[in-house]
Amino acid sequence: MNCYVVKNKPCPCDCDGNGQLLYISCSSCNCILLMCDEIGNIFDNLMSPLNSKEHLVIWRSSKQVCPQCKEVLLSNFVPATESLLKKIGMEESNYEVADENVFKSFIKLRSV
Ligand SMILES: [Zn+2]
Ligand SMILES: [Zn+2]
Repeated sequence: MNCYVVKNKPCPCDCDGNGQLLYISCSSCNCILLMCDEIGNIFDNLMSPLNSKEHLVIWRSSKQVCPQCKEVLLSNFVPATESLLKKIGMEESNYEVADENVFKSFIKLRSV
């Protein structure tokens, strides 16, 4: 299964732009968020320029839940599928297929 990252935009969090922003989704309501694959910080404004830390909205913690349905733990989010990205109106110029290291660090961060 492919997972997808934001295209051509470095992550604005404390990873100093080293991280890629992975699209992740809620398994219950399909809410889509972005997760830095270096540190695990989570952002919710998908369309913003993502150029400052002000866009950092959710510090990942094992107890935090989906901002939309408030039912699913953020740690249970899964990489968003391409059909889901298209469904919310994401254009192909906004995302690209992530390399497998992104998926590996997602699994690692999620289990912390
Ligand atoms: Zn980052
Ligand atoms: Zn949800």
